[in-house]
Amino acid sequence: VSGLIISGQEVEVDGLTIVNKNDNQWAHLDAHDFGSRNGAWVRQIILHTTQGNWPQTLLPGKGPGGSAKSTVTYWQTSPICSGSHIIIDNDGTVACLTDLATDAAYHATVSNRWSIGIEMRQEPTNNGVYEATYDAAEILVPALCKLFGVQFQMPKLMYGGHPFKRMLDGGPDMIGVFGHRNNTEDRGRGDPGEEIWGRMLAAGAERFDFEAREDIDVWKQRQSDLNAAGSSLTVDGQPGPKTIDALKAAGGATGIWALDHKS
Ligand SMILES: [Zn+2]
Repeated sequence: VSGLIISGQEVEVDGLTIVNKNDNQWAHLDAHDFGSRNGAWVRQIILHTTQGNWPQTLLPGKGPGGSAKSTVTYWQTSPICSGSHIIIDNDGTVACLTDLATDAAYHATVSNRWSIGIEMRQEPTNNGVYEATYDAAEILVPALCKLFGVQFQMPKLMYGGHPFKRMLDGGPDMIGVFGHRNNTEDRGRGDPGEEIWGRMLAAGAERFDFEAREDIDVWKQRQSDLNAAGSSLTVDGQPGPKTIDALKAAGGATGIWALDHKS
C-alpha cells in the first residue's frame, strides 16, 4: 500500500492506486525539475495532459500502464526543466513524484510555487485519454482539495482561447482547480481539454466566473457571514488557511465549501 507524499509522510487515498519513490525507484523528479515552495501555501491544483493536444478522444476503459514511467524517465534525462508533482497513467495509476507540501515542480511557470501539478496521460498516437485516467482524477482532485485546504472550485465559462488576465502573474488570489491553459498563452485547449471539467463538476466542484472576480465577491460574503458568527477574518475574498479554519469551526466537516455543502 502506497500513498501521496506530503511533508515526508505517505497519505493513502481511498479508491486510488498510488506509486511513489519508496516503492518504485523511477518515480521521482530530477533535481533540476523542481524547487522549493519557499513557504507559499498551496492554493491551486493545475491540470495538464501530457501531450496538450486538441481535439482529444475519450478512450474506453484503461490502457496498458507503463506510460508514467516512460514520461518520468524522459523528464529525468531531458535538459528542459520540466516536471509535475503527479502523473496519472493510462491505467489510472497515480504516480506521486515529489513532496506535494514542500516542493514546487516546474509545471506551470508563474504558478509553480503555490500549485500542485497533475499530468494526465494523453496517448501520442491518437490524442486519446482513457476513462481510467479521468476516473482517477475525479477521486484525486477533491482528495487533494481536502488535504491541502484548496477550495474545490473551477472556471464557469468555456475556455475562450486565452488565459485569465488575473492568472498571468500566477494568480496569487486565484484559489481552486485550473487548467494549464488558464495561466499562459503558450498552451491551448488541449492542456487539459474539456472532458475533465465535466468530471470535476460531477464530483461536486463549484464554478465561478474568475475573470469577473465572482469568486472574490462570493467569498467576501462568506467571510463576512463567518465574521458575523464570531470569526475575525480579513474580508478579502480569498479563502486561505484561516478561512478554512473558520469554516471548520462553524461546523464544516472539511472546510471545503463544495464538499461540505454537497447536496
Ligand atoms: Zn501543461
